Amino acid sequence: KLVEKSRVRRDEHSKAAFERAKRSIPGGVNSPVRAFRSVGLTPVFAAHGSGSRITDIDGNTYIDYVASWGPLILGHAHPEVVEAIKKTAEKGTSFGMPTELETMMAELVVERVPSVDVVRMVNSGTEATMSALRLARGYTKRSKIVKFEGSYHGHADSLLIKAGSGVATLGLPDSPGVPDSVASHTITVPYNDLSAVKLAFERFGEEIACVIVEPVAGNMGVVPPLPGFLEGLREVTRAYGSLLIFDEVMTGFRVHYNCAQGLYGVEPDLTCFGKVIGGGLPVGAYGGKREIMEMIAPSGPIYQAGTLSGNPLAMAAGYTTLKLLTPETYQRLEALSARLQRGFEENAERHGIPTTINRVGSMLCPFFTDKTVINYETAKTSDLDRFKVYFASMLNLGISIAPSQFEGMFISAVHTEADIDATIEAHDEALRRL
Ligand code: PLP
Repeated sequence: KLVEKSRVRRDEHSKAAFERAKRSIPGGVNSPVRAFRSVGLTPVFAAHGSGSRITDIDGNTYIDYVASWGPLILGHAHPEVVEAIKKTAEKGTSFGMPTELETMMAELVVERVPSVDVVRMVNSGTEATMSALRLARGYTKRSKIVKFEGSYHGHADSLLIKAGSGVATLGLPDSPGVPDSVASHTITVPYNDLSAVKLAFERFGEEIACVIVEPVAGNMGVVPPLPGFLEGLREVTRAYGSLLIFDEVMTGFRVHYNCAQGLYGVEPDLTCFGKVIGGGLPVGAYGGKREIMEMIAPSGPIYQAGTLSGNPLAMAAGYTTLKLLTPETYQRLEALSARLQRGFEENAERHGIPTTINRVGSMLCPFFTDKTVINYETAKTSDLDRFKVYFASMLNLGISIAPSQFEGMFISAVHTEADIDATIEAHDEALRRL
């Protein structure tokens, strides 16, 4: 048997570590979702990871589908990525001068993403989207932005409105601390609802600087774009002289060799990157058409900077990761992910548990609902109480998934077919326990 059904997961050390952390870190964590609040459990403290596995400080090992929330498309501690980081570190960790590694990284992104002529490195996805917004506003000389309900674009003020991900499970519609004057420039519409977007443009068109969209929504579970949605956004933004920003922080180099824009064949004006592009180190980036990007300092007047931007270690990890990702990698990811989806669907059918599984490449999300999930409203029809029980069972059965219904699973290139089958077996057992 692949899954030890009788095993009891130990958590004394994680519990103690959490108590200790809470004394010196707000809520005991440096990013809210890690606290396991929405599932009512003690967070698991990681000790080490290798390939598809994480071992926690109590000695439990998990097949991991969190992948550090997306970046680890090559699994934990990939030998070549680790080697690149080590070698680079030996030569100095930061210079505050340009390095050739930064250009190599930029060239790779430009080569793989046709809509990107030039790209600026930053330190997180949040910085990428925040900077892209400033650029869009500066370039168009307009203030309003359009975003989608349940989409998460990081925690910049303008974007923390009707956001998904951790904000969704905290139940904060808007975060305190975001001034109304800032929030009033953000127009939110339902994902996949082109007519709502058109209405917003009919009303405010001349004031809208940009539409920012996750080309596959990954912060309300996984929600693919309906046919025509991204194309429609391209048309309407063009018609009104607004910019179209693809937030590919999650999807970039995750769903396709050429990112989601390569998969769907729609070219945005600007693209935000993060996660995979950093190979597990802190990186974000934004890029796009030269004419727009040249508005950024020092070539243009719109300011954006960073002490550690383009950091050599991060560039080494990101560059090595992207180099290892070939079109064949995505075929492998597709095959593994399809296998997982099929197994989950068969389990759900057998147990008679209403389940809708959304998947794009190696982003997959089972919702406990029989509704088709196309936006945040329908994602919220998932039975969250059921999810809690399911999550706890999966964890106890040695499978690490994100502690929230509104996050996807990430399959990595180092998951094996045996990993996938063990996960399907654990899912079967978890559904039996519901
Ligand atoms: N954009 C998207 C689509 C994301 O999923 C995230 C993070 O989950 C961000 C932006 C923010 O990135 P970071 O957490 O690196 O600031």
